Amino acid sequence: MANYTVARGTRDILGLEKKKESVVCEIIQAIASTYGYNMIETPIFESTDLFCRSVGESSDIVNKEMYTFLDKGERSITLRPEGTAGAIRLFVNNKLYNNPDLPVKMMYLGPVFRYERPQSGRYRQFKQFGFECVGLKNPYVDVELILMVKNILESLGFENLIIKLNTLGDSASRTNYVNALKDYFKPYLEGENALCPDCKRRYEQNPLRILDCKYDAEHEAIKNAPKINDYLNQESKDYFLEVLSLLKKMNVSYEVDTSLVRGLDYYNDVVFEIYQEGKNFGALGAGGRYDGLVKDIGGPLLPATGFAFGIERLVLAMEQDNLFDDLHEFDLDVLVMPLSTKCNETALKTTEFLRKNGFICEMDFMNKSLKSQFKTVERKNAPIALIIGEDEIANNTFIVKDTKKMEQVTVKEEELLDTIGDILGGMMYENND
Ligand code: AMP
Repeated sequence: MANYTVARGTRDILGLEKKKESVVCEIIQAIASTYGYNMIETPIFESTDLFCRSVGESSDIVNKEMYTFLDKGERSITLRPEGTAGAIRLFVNNKLYNNPDLPVKMMYLGPVFRYERPQSGRYRQFKQFGFECVGLKNPYVDVELILMVKNILESLGFENLIIKLNTLGDSASRTNYVNALKDYFKPYLEGENALCPDCKRRYEQNPLRILDCKYDAEHEAIKNAPKINDYLNQESKDYFLEVLSLLKKMNVSYEVDTSLVRGLDYYNDVVFEIYQEGKNFGALGAGGRYDGLVKDIGGPLLPATGFAFGIERLVLAMEQDNLFDDLHEFDLDVLVMPLSTKCNETALKTTEFLRKNGFICEMDFMNKSLKSQFKTVERKNAPIALIIGEDEIANNTFIVKDTKKMEQVTVKEEELLDTIGDILGGMMYENND
């Protein structure tokens, strides 16, 4: 017999873990909505050219990590390795640049695919919750995005966050810097002290990428490389300083990290990553400004900034911090327990009636013994058991049992909703007390 398992670097997500992801995504979406972000959805695969043009020919993603194939029409297709390129293509194709109220704020959630070496918090298929804010270059816009990301993480319960920021400067500053890096790295292309073969390719395509080489991270040439700060023009410096000063005014602590260059080619000016102290799986999320991308993808020259969380990493970090302790795989309000097959019809009607009144309930379809139905109550975490036996049907009553206090009452049909509501209300009061 064939033994089918998931492909390397991918995972099945089910039960409580799926619930954790849903809760996290709901909170993210709810908070981002308060900042004016609206959900969009783009296809999971796009033309390969889109990613080569945007993420960049020199990036590791395009060079080594994309899932690319020819479809039956001989088109080169790629499973998206990130969300920004598709979101900006959507923005351009749908002429959202005609919107008189800039910036346009879009958010999305979905799987992305990278052929990376799998490890804790690093998968080949993972989910990103991303945000793109298109249309303005203004320090207030950068700061609002950082405030939103911080607000989301704090609402999820995170503490000890580290916001790392850097500026890559505008395109003139970047050209200056790239030229300086070319001169500086030239002696390290050959010989004993040479950088890795990937870095040689990066040297030709985009020397900035050498700075975030994972293989050569400890190489003296990389450690001592010139810093972008020394090559920024006044405008880029002022922009960055204004962002920093606004962050201070909003009481946001941050670290300026001059080695932060981000692995994608489209970034400029302010870039940032968020970490949590003590976690060993890299950034919880990352983003930055990309003022040239809308034009590169065929739209007008419109600046933009964006950010993406990795959902699996958020869940992992929250698990490690015990932030899901109150979450259960099953969260019933009521388990409806018919004691014999003759009681099933009343049970079905009552369960449906309770659901229409907003209670989460299930009916036990198996007519198990009372004892084993109470085992189900425990497993499904139901605070109330609604027992329906033949006597109860004859008398038009129900037995409502508070399974935490182990107390039960017999009630008439018209008292049922109030009785259940009172028990649940009392529990909520006790939990919040
Ligand atoms: P990036 O698009 O590379 O800037 O990544 C944004 C966020 O996605 C990171 O901060 C991580 O939280 C997450 N992420 C990136 N790569 C992976 C991966 N291979 N597995 C899981 N999460 C990832």
